[in-house]
This record gives sequence, structure tokens and C-alpha cells, in this order.
Amino acid sequence: HQLCDPELPIEQLLASPLDQVLSTPGLPLPAQLFEREGRRNSMGLDFTELAPREALQQALTQADTEPVPKAGQSDVEQAMARLQAAAPAWAACPVLDRAACLRRAADALEAQTLAFCARLTHEAGKTAADAMAEVREAVDFLRYYAGQAEQDPALMRGRGVFVCISPWNFPLAIFAGQMAAALVAGNAVAAKPAEQTPAVARAMVALLHEAGVPRDALQLLHGPGERVGAALVAHAACAGVSFTGSTAVAQHIHRALAAQPGPPRPLIAETGGLNAMVVDSTALPEQVIDAVVQSAFRSAGQRCSALRLLCLHDGIADRVIEMLRGAMAELRVGSPARLDTDVGPLIDDEAHVHIARHVLRLRREARFIAESPLAEPHPRLLAPIAFEIGRIDELREEIFGPVLHVLRWQGEPEGVIDAINALGYGLTLGLQTRIDSRAERLAALARVGNVYVNRNIVGAVVGVQPFGGEGLSGTGPKAGGPSYLRRFVAEPALRTSL
Ligand code: GLU
Repeated sequence: HQLCDPELPIEQLLASPLDQVLSTPGLPLPAQLFEREGRRNSMGLDFTELAPREALQQALTQADTEPVPKAGQSDVEQAMARLQAAAPAWAACPVLDRAACLRRAADALEAQTLAFCARLTHEAGKTAADAMAEVREAVDFLRYYAGQAEQDPALMRGRGVFVCISPWNFPLAIFAGQMAAALVAGNAVAAKPAEQTPAVARAMVALLHEAGVPRDALQLLHGPGERVGAALVAHAACAGVSFTGSTAVAQHIHRALAAQPGPPRPLIAETGGLNAMVVDSTALPEQVIDAVVQSAFRSAGQRCSALRLLCLHDGIADRVIEMLRGAMAELRVGSPARLDTDVGPLIDDEAHVHIARHVLRLRREARFIAESPLAEPHPRLLAPIAFEIGRIDELREEIFGPVLHVLRWQGEPEGVIDAINALGYGLTLGLQTRIDSRAERLAALARVGNVYVNRNIVGAVVGVQPFGGEGLSGTGPKAGGPSYLRRFVAEPALRTSL
């Protein structure tokens, strides 16, 4: 039950009833779960490998259980000096060779899928399905940016030392994606992973080093953002920052960069969202429920793309709410070591306290709709919960957990989109309607990065659905899209001669 506590011994961490699950008739077997996720073929991996507890146990190496040392000020100084010294040689290395390092790392990561899944479950509390999807996404990022650089080698002129600061909610995919982009573009990289997930980061950095990225051109610096992240951003050698995390921290970094003397440095920030789904009276309720459950509760709502506000047309609201109650009662909220768990724990106690406080306020001020049952006690499990609120502006901050706010609307959906735009965020939006022209109109009106029609609003696919927002949700360019690498490079000089 303590799977995401990295301090506990492995035996204890994995003392969860996986074997019992597998021998209980009627419970979904791994292969069926896999099919449910629709990833059986694309992963090309036999999910049953994940089944035995021993496999997970074996997948975690001795190194994974050793604490990752925290960097102090002198470590930051040393690392930045090394990176600065190594940057010119790495920039001079042919683009195709840099891309080849990414491709080798992708192959190695794919070959070690199980080990990385185990790390993600162990350190970040990821369910099996989420862990698998994340390894896949990391592999995709590595190959996609390699391919982008190979297509446009003349453009890939690095800026120097890039600082990459990544979040705990995608400690592998986003971490690897940021580093891959910065490296293949020709930058040396100071990688600052989220404080909660250093072991996944260490394993990923090791893999890039083994794949040929020089040690001095990629340095891992673990520690609190206020100290290590701040020191990296403020360092004279920092040529740019790629950051994914909260809007407040992005604003902080922006100010810190602006306060530096010397040349202005680019900031690529992908931040939070107050993401909505607008459902009209023509929508298919079953489809809406599936999309809502995936978007609001999968990954325990710990995605910046996750659904926070469900806007239901009055004509369909009662039916959808009734079905939502049924669906929420079915979710298995429990230990991520069980393959049939749908919703795992929150990342840490601080998150738990913060979200629980918000839920308490909603219990007083909003109308309760439903709460999923907890399958087992766990200090960081928070049951998915839904409330009906009266006004859109009751929603002010992003609540990074499995809490859904439902709002009824009447009249024209354009008014709802205007109100969503007015929240100031702009990441994802869901539209559920059987009127195509309406979907087109509303999508054009919405000030967001990613609009999803008649489906869930999470899990953007690298290279297919470039992901990123506007307004309070980030600066762009979109990750996993064709313009992402451009922000990491200094454009080559334009040569003109007679
Ligand atoms: N790219 C992820 C998705 O589409 C979200 C990334 C994040 O939460 O930062 O769901």
C-alpha cells in the first residue's frame, strides 16, 4: 500500500496482492486490461510480463533503491562549468550523430520497458497502464526529435547550456522529451528533475550517457526547485530554460530570467490548465461518461491536460450525472501494484492535504454528486469526487487531483466558451456534440492549445497531437510538434555574397 514511498524496502513495497488478483476469477487479466487500453499492438510488448510480482521486483535494481544525492551550490557551479566547457564540442558534433544518440537511447529504453514501468510505479505511484503509456511516450519523444533534427540539420545550432526543469507527473516522458529536444538541437543540458522523482531521472540520464551523450554535456542536478532550480536559472551560463510545471513557478522563472544581466534568454513553459468539456444536448451520454472518467480521474487527475470542469447542457445534465454516479462507483481506487487498479495515489502528502482542503470547501459550498469508494486504505489515496457548482468563476485555481466540477448551462454554447476563455488558462478543451458545424465553430472560438471532439482530452500522442497551451497555460511551442526544436536553437547566420 505504500508503493510510492521510495524509502521503503522493495519487499515491503511490493507486498501487494498481485498474485491474488491474477488467480481471482472475474477480475480483468492483464491482457484484457491491455486491450482495454488499446495499446496491445502499439506497445509490441507482452503485458503479462508485468503480472508476477517477482518481475516488478526484479526489474528494480539495487541502484534504484539508493538515494539520489542532492546538489548543493558548489555542485551547481561545477556542473555548469563542465557543461559550458563541453557545449562547443557537442554543438560541433554532426547533427546526425546527435540524433543517433537519441535513437540508441530510445531502443534501450524500449528494451527496458518493464524496468522503467517498475520505477514509475515505485517512485511516482503510476498504475500499470499509465506507466506503460509513459514509457511509450518517452520513446516516441526521443525518436520524434531525432527525426525532426535529421530532417533539418542545417537549423540545429545550439544556444549553449539549456536548463531543463521537469515535473513529477511525467517524470520519464516529459523529462526525456525536454532533454532530447535540447540535446539534439546542439545544447548541453543541465537536467533538474522534480524533487519527488529523482530515481527515474537518474536511470534515464544514465541511459542517454550510455547511448553516447558525453557525460559533461548532460548533467543531472537533483534537489529542491527553490534552491537547485533557482541557482541554475540564475547562472550566467544558462542560455535558455525549458520548464514544465505550475504556472506560478513559470512566472517566477520568467522574472528571474528577466532580472539577469546579459542577453535575454528564451523560456519554454508548459504549465497548468483549468480544462473544460462542453457537452450539448445532442451528445452521446455513454461517450461523454467514458471521456469524463478518462480525462478527470485517470492518473488520479494529475495531468495538466486533465478535465476540471464539465459543462453540461441542461437538457442532458440529469442523465449524464446519473450515469456518472454509476461509473464512479465502478472505479477501483487503490494500490498501483494491482493490475486492476484504475486510480492510484497522489504524489505526496502535501498534494493530498491541499486537494483534501479543496474538497472540504466544496462539501460546504457545492452540491455533492458522487465519490468513488476506496478499495484499500492508503495515506495518499484520494477518491475521485464530483460536485455541481453554480458559477464558472467559482473555479479559480487548478486543483491537481481527481476532483470534477460540474456546471449546467442553457442557451448558446458560445457563451460557455467565452466564460472558459475568461478563466485565462488555455490548455485543453473537450467538445461533445453530434453537430459537426458547432464543433468547428466552438473549436475556433476557444483560446486553447488542444481541442478534442467527442473523445477524452488527455494523452496527446507525440508527433500526431502536438501538445501545449496559451495564456496562463504556457508559452508554446507545442511539445511533440514540428516547431518545438526551433526554440532551442539559434538560427544560423544568413550568408549573402555577390
Ligand atoms: N501531455 C499530457 C497529456 O496530453 C499531459 C502533460 C502534463 O500533464 O504535463 O495528457
